[in-house]
Amino acid sequence: MTSSDARENLVKAVLPESQLPRQWYNIVPDLPEPPPPHLHPATREPVTAGDMMAFFPRALVEQELSEQRYIDIPAPVREVYQLWRPSPLVRARRLERELGTSARIYYKYEGVSPIGSHKANSSVAQAYYNAIEGVRRLTTETGAGQWGSALAFACTAFGLGCEVWQVRASYDGKPYRRMLMETFGATVHSSPSELTEAGRRMRASFPDTSGSLGMAVSEAIEAATGYGDAKYALGSVLNHVVLHQTVIGEEVLAQLPYFGEEQADVVYGCAGGGSNLAGLAFPLLRERLAGRTTTRFVAAEPTACPSLTQGRYEYDHGDVAGLTPLLKMYTLGSDFVPDPIHAGGLRYHGMSPLLSHTVNLGLIEATAIGQQEAFDAAVTFARAEALVPAPESSHAIAAALADARARTTPGQSASIVIGLSGHGQLDLPAYSAYLAGELADTR
Ligand SMILES: *Cc1c(COP(=O)(O)O)cnc(C)c1O
Repeated sequence: MTSSDARENLVKAVLPESQLPRQWYNIVPDLPEPPPPHLHPATREPVTAGDMMAFFPRALVEQELSEQRYIDIPAPVREVYQLWRPSPLVRARRLERELGTSARIYYKYEGVSPIGSHKANSSVAQAYYNAIEGVRRLTTETGAGQWGSALAFACTAFGLGCEVWQVRASYDGKPYRRMLMETFGATVHSSPSELTEAGRRMRASFPDTSGSLGMAVSEAIEAATGYGDAKYALGSVLNHVVLHQTVIGEEVLAQLPYFGEEQADVVYGCAGGGSNLAGLAFPLLRERLAGRTTTRFVAAEPTACPSLTQGRYEYDHGDVAGLTPLLKMYTLGSDFVPDPIHAGGLRYHGMSPLLSHTVNLGLIEATAIGQQEAFDAAVTFARAEALVPAPESSHAIAAALADARARTTPGQSASIVIGLSGHGQLDLPAYSAYLAGELADTR
């Protein structure tokens, strides 16, 4: 077999552990304009490291404000990453045949992590830095439970306690991730809860609320600041989270040549808080900004929570109670409570300031996908590739499938990379509702 035959037949590029990235990539110094700073919620002056250290350990604050291009991944973090990284890049040949497309479709599969999504890329780093700075426990919020389970897993890995406020709609509707969090040793509360001032206020005003990430963030921050030995951890949105996720894109750059690809022509990722898409896209965007590639990037968000396509680009809080810094981002307003769609991880009112900035600069495009369309694509994908995608990832798949279906002639061929942020094995009730024709399509 010649090497070109080998490439022709290659379905999965699995890098050796030695190829696990040694550094995270910070896009800030490479952007054509610097991103607007986070502002202190009271003074509206740029936040200082000191302000942020009330919530986060010093190392993460430094990363949040960093202008350094590459940041070394500590050895203990790489060691935990090696449980599942490098993650595979897969050529979806059966899906291509099913669609009758001339495009070459690849998916970068983050569902191989211990909790089934990309979120462990950041939770492990965050737990590590908190542990070495003497923090004893972490508090956080979670929507569908992916971030909560990622943090619960990471806290056990580094000997920290973990307390999670889970959005009520998911706490009630998705018990398996709560069980997963509890199995990893975490304590889980339904949000809004009676345990915090913010929670009690919300329950008094809106007794029937299904909860929101913005509410759960307020509760987790309030608890962390009250405990003394605790800090808070956020699963998306902030710069340091995006930074940790760049292992995804760095690996893709190393994997594409195995298939004989010189570049990804189009990249699709789903965007809730923006971290998995930014983590995939930013290393590839570095290559484009340097003039080495012509890659296009598309963020796929739900029509039920369309911050990039319908929101305003302005300073807003990350939470309901206004405890976080003001972030310049595409936002629907911090009191926005989205419909309880199944893609719980995409139900956030705002968007990563870094991703928002690149969208605002026209470097990344955005599209909104309805719930029905997302599940149509997810089931097509599942049947072709024998892999059930997370409802969140299905938004990226739907956008990519529409693109691929429009490419039928060899001249329209292109390499399409989908960020498959997680698997949907714990979301099967949502698939069941879809198959029974009982899915609500929102707006
Ligand atoms: C949380 C989550 C998302 C959305 O978060 P981002 O920060 O936008 O990546 C997407 N997919 C999965 C599987 C998730 O768990």
